Amino acid sequence: MADVTPAPEPPGFEGAGPQRPRAARSRGAAPLIPARPDGSLDLDAALPLFGHHQFRPGQRESIEALLERGRLLLVAPTGGGKSLTYQLPATLLPGTTLVISPLIALMNDQVSALHQHGIPATFLASTLGGDELRQRMRDLANGAYKLVYVAPERLTFPGFRELLQKIAVPLVAIDEAHCISEWGHDFRPEYMQIGEFIATLPAETRVLACTATATPVVRDEILAKLALGDRTTQIVRGFARPNLRLRAREVSRRERDEAIDQLLAAAIGRPRKPTGAAIVYSPTRKLSEEQAARLVGEGWRARAYHAGLEPELRDAVQRAFSTGALDIVVATNAFGMGIDRSDVRAVIHLAPPGSIEAYYQEVGRAGRDGEPAWGLLCYTSQDLPLRRRLLESDIDGRPADPEIVEHKWNMFLELIRWAEGGSCRHDAILRYFGDEAEVLQGCGHCDVCEALTSDSEFDEEQTALIVRKALSGVARIDRRYGLLAAINLLAGQTDERLQRSGLDQVKTFGALASETAQYGEAWIKKLLHRCVAAGWVEYTGTDRPLATLSREGREVMLGRRPARIVLPPTAEAAPRGERPRRERSPGRDAELARPGVELDAKAQVLFDALRAHRLEVARRDEVPPYVVASDRSLREVAVLRPRTIDELQQAHGIGPAKAEKYGEGLLEVVRKSSPRSRARA
Ligand code: ADP
Ligand code: ZN
Repeated sequence: MADVTPAPEPPGFEGAGPQRPRAARSRGAAPLIPARPDGSLDLDAALPLFGHHQFRPGQRESIEALLERGRLLLVAPTGGGKSLTYQLPATLLPGTTLVISPLIALMNDQVSALHQHGIPATFLASTLGGDELRQRMRDLANGAYKLVYVAPERLTFPGFRELLQKIAVPLVAIDEAHCISEWGHDFRPEYMQIGEFIATLPAETRVLACTATATPVVRDEILAKLALGDRTTQIVRGFARPNLRLRAREVSRRERDEAIDQLLAAAIGRPRKPTGAAIVYSPTRKLSEEQAARLVGEGWRARAYHAGLEPELRDAVQRAFSTGALDIVVATNAFGMGIDRSDVRAVIHLAPPGSIEAYYQEVGRAGRDGEPAWGLLCYTSQDLPLRRRLLESDIDGRPADPEIVEHKWNMFLELIRWAEGGSCRHDAILRYFGDEAEVLQGCGHCDVCEALTSDSEFDEEQTALIVRKALSGVARIDRRYGLLAAINLLAGQTDERLQRSGLDQVKTFGALASETAQYGEAWIKKLLHRCVAAGWVEYTGTDRPLATLSREGREVMLGRRPARIVLPPTAEAAPRGERPRRERSPGRDAELARPGVELDAKAQVLFDALRAHRLEVARRDEVPPYVVASDRSLREVAVLRPRTIDELQQAHGIGPAKAEKYGEGLLEVVRKSSPRSRARA
């Protein structure tokens, strides 16, 4: 590495005695590494300041994107080395980089680590004494630090804002940026102030937002709430775990135990001679006790671990696992935070957790050493209603917020779709996170990839034929309707929309009619979901998701690319929970409160009209659509078909205030849609 300029002597740090930094230059703290003669910044020269010899994949790219384009959203897993993306530029740029971080403990750690490398940094927090705080502020004003860490609430202190205006701030980094998302469990109201702060910065100030967990939806939310604009570069990296052999299986209780035993045998061999460790995640304490007892019966050194155990016992279990005295821990999700055992060869879920993020984080505890490791997700058809009930149950005696319930429900459905999906598990997860760069076009060792290569389960021609028909159905409704219309089209079932648009006359109409007759409509739906998971069908549109083919999907439809998915199972496809609903719902509570109520065609048309109306009203009043009414409310209105304000208020979430404000408009939409007898006699 060329001409490394030694860092200047760092000024005195906290607690480093009476010596305090000297007065600043006018441009604030000078760079630790001067720019090259041509003015460019020398990233390679700065790296050794941090004790590193090489950039990790993606680090240089991220830093360059930030320096060149000024705005970056970086999504990479915890431990991926995101901090360097702002710490390294901080040493190269004149002035003091501001880092906004949620926890004082985190700031303290980061600042001490920087001190160890001789990089002047500090943090400001209310836990410091008044004198200390004032001294640090003075030093900051004098350009003594290259980095200053603060919690977001400090941005509201007028004294601090004033100080920032006096010093040069070349870069603002927001750590744990997902805390701004109201959907996550990490939401921190103080983060809401950051956007307003960023808007006040001079245009040339660079802004970096970092997070380890952000799906595309949350990423958009971060950009919007931070007022970063959609020109912001987004880099998503480091999510690939190609050594994981992911499996998902729908199983009965008995099959579950068998599946577990099989997986354990493949991953860690036999009891008494295990070749590694396993973690089994259980949805309940009771089940974790039962399963642990069963595994002990099989000869494993296994223990249960959950929040109901005495703290000493929990510590003992965790220690025994860490030191290798236990082979298997059967745990609720309370387990795993401090697990540094690198030879975990299997992570088994007895039931699905709440989201793909949660699942990936937990299964990611396997194979930390890079050697092959297995993940098995067991699920049953009862998981859906169970989860729904869990989400809707009161939290600390207060009813759950319907919007948050809906959001979490969708996160859960994504995981179920992934589990039911018929394309490479590894690639499907990376697509979900938006980490396209690391997609493998088939990892080769997940259950789907294995099924695709074993001839017995995969009839290539037959599959290709069906998939191409399905995709041509989507191409027909392209961007006009959602998946439901494509299903009707393919099944050859006409509805108002298809009639209106003449789609019941096209060749594709009924292209999968015989499959529908044989396996049921639910099978067609699963097939399309698999096409979504494979990245061939996408959704567009902000309000109501409209289905469209991706570029790859078009290629598959045209036969220019292989249709490598496993078709949905046929034997149990039809009867499972997805039979067509009756048109009218006498038992409102039972029927309407059902998770993911599938509307019949007529109700769907009204629902669509209600949503369009909602969007109009939301735009007119400049409020988010959910303020007008939630999806669930509209769904209920679509089924109830109320005629009066009183009847309208029977729909979920529509109280007197909403009814007064938006009621007439909603009733008007109901009146306009084809009149018919009311849902509830
Ligand atoms: P994140 O913020 O993404 O969770 P950190 O920035 O805390 O991750 O980095 C995690 C660990 O990786 C730290 O110990 C850090 O020193 C180390 N690290 C980061 N970049 C490199 C690199 N280029 N070479 C070696 N170690 C690195
Ligand atoms: Zn695969």
